[in-house]
Formats: sequence, C-alpha cells, structure tokens
Amino acid sequence: MSPRPVVDVQQLTYRYGSDEPSKDEPVHPVLNGIDLQVSAGEYVVILGHNGSGKSTLAKHLNALLTPTEGRVLVCGMDTRDESLRWEIRRQAGMVFQNPDNQIVGTSVAEDVAFGLENMGVPPDEMARRVDRVLTRLDMAHLADREPHQLSGGQKQRLAIAGILAMRPTILILDEATAMLDPQGRREVMDAVRQLNREDGVTVIQITHFMEEALWADRVVVMQEGRIRLNGPPEDVLIQRDVLLEAGLDVPFAVELASRLRRHGIPLDENILHGDQLVDALWKLLSNP
Ligand code: ADP
Repeated sequence: MSPRPVVDVQQLTYRYGSDEPSKDEPVHPVLNGIDLQVSAGEYVVILGHNGSGKSTLAKHLNALLTPTEGRVLVCGMDTRDESLRWEIRRQAGMVFQNPDNQIVGTSVAEDVAFGLENMGVPPDEMARRVDRVLTRLDMAHLADREPHQLSGGQKQRLAIAGILAMRPTILILDEATAMLDPQGRREVMDAVRQLNREDGVTVIQITHFMEEALWADRVVVMQEGRIRLNGPPEDVLIQRDVLLEAGLDVPFAVELASRLRRHGIPLDENILHGDQLVDALWKLLSNP
C-alpha cells in the first residue's frame, strides 16, 4: 500500500471573488478541477505560463486560500478547517518571490527565531534550533548580521531557515528564485536540493525557469487553471509541442534534438539532458 500523500488536492476549483457572487457576471474559475497528490520526500516542480494559476494553487497548499469547490488535505488536515490553519502553515512553509518582504527580525538569528517565539518554544530550545538551522544552511557566520545587509540569495536562504526551524514537512517555493541573480539562484537551489535529498523535506517548487525542473522527481505543467502534464521530467519535458502550447520554453537539448531530427539525423525521442544528446551524437558519428 502506498503511504498517505502529504498533499492531497481533490477536484480543486477556485474563483476569485466567489464570496460575493454576481448573477450578471459569472466569475471564471482560475483553477478548474485540479487533482494532485504529493508523497513525503518528493521534489515536485510546478511549471506554467504567467496567469496559469500556479500561485493560486500554491496558496491553497498552506491555507492562504481555501477551495471554492473540492478539497485540499495537507498532512491529512483539511484546509477549510480554521482550527487547523496554524498547524497547516507550520507543516507547509512557504517562501515567496520578494526576499525583502519576508524579513521580520533585526538580526539574522532573531529573524529565524521569530516563528519559534510565536509557537511558544522555550528560549534554550529556541537558541539550539536557530543555531542548528543556520549551520545547516551555511549561515552561522551571519547570525548577528542585519538581514538587510544580506544578498538576495542569502535573504531567501534566511526565509528558508525560518521555516525549517519550525520543522515543517513541506517546503513550498513560489517563484522564490525569480528575483535573484544567477549566483543567488544557484545558492538557493543547492540548499533546497540538499534539504530534500539529505533531510527528506518534501519540496513543491513553482517556477518558470525550465532548468529548475530538470532534476525534479516530478514535473507538473499547468495551463489555464488545469493540469496539462504530470510525470517524471524524462516523460514531461520531452513533450516539446505541449510545452510550447502551454507557453513554456523547451529544454535546450530537447529543442536541439528536435531540430536535428527535422534535418534527418536519427535521434531518440527521449533525449532530455545535454550530455544525453552529446552521447547520442557520438554514437552516430562512431557508427555512421
Ligand atoms: P501564475 O502564478 O501562474 O502566474 P496566478 O495564480 O497568479 O497565476 O493567477 C491566475 C489568474 O488569477 C490570473 O488570471 C490572475 O489575473 C488571476 N488572479 C490572481 N490573483 C487574483 C486576485 N487576487 N483577484 C482576482 N484575480 C486574481
């Protein structure tokens, strides 16, 4: 029997403004019949063009929004149950796009401690947890620094540290690398991958950077409020025509292989990574 999913989205439909329905103007749903299950320890990337509903879906995963129809269970807890809302937010921590909007402390250590204070964690235990997560994220040397002095990548790692201190099951990243330079993006991605692989944190990452999807366990492609594709990257990201229809880029190796095929070069349909393309071309050259 497969374990119970940590995220279980069942037939989720959402309309903004549906609290005040107007008879004259039926509101078009932004999410339309979404079904999505995520298992503990999975790394899931959600891709989609602007406006496809990614952020709206993410906000349902930590009860910032609740379904118009259908239901969302997080670690078995129904997000419509207001009495569970804080526990849901502790279990499913969310990092947003703008690093500056997430800083609450006047020092790095204080910022990490903020959520723990709200949870009523005793001071000794709090100091230990702050130490541990800052060390885990290679930020112990920055503990006394003012958060505003940090780089963008460091600020996003600080946001992750604050969530991690609360011992969540799920880390949700909503375009968390979009405002960073390449160095900052790499720092954040490395930290998140490590937390997933080594500590078993379930990751749900929303992004429009195709390359961030290449190493996920699973990729979900959204289009106009629906799930268009859902599967391992090697199945999803080679579907060039569907990706283009969904308004997304196509991974470089997939696009190049497709163009070479059109020029009569017999390459497999399942090439995803650059090194696979290089290998396939070498084989063709050595067995002409
Ligand atoms: P994405 O994250 O994929 O860019 P969003 O979930 O932000 O998509 O938006 C999906 C759709 O919902 C868009 O058409 C957007 O204009 C609309 N939308 C987003 N937020 C609101 C809101 N607060 N009120 C009304 N419509 C919204």
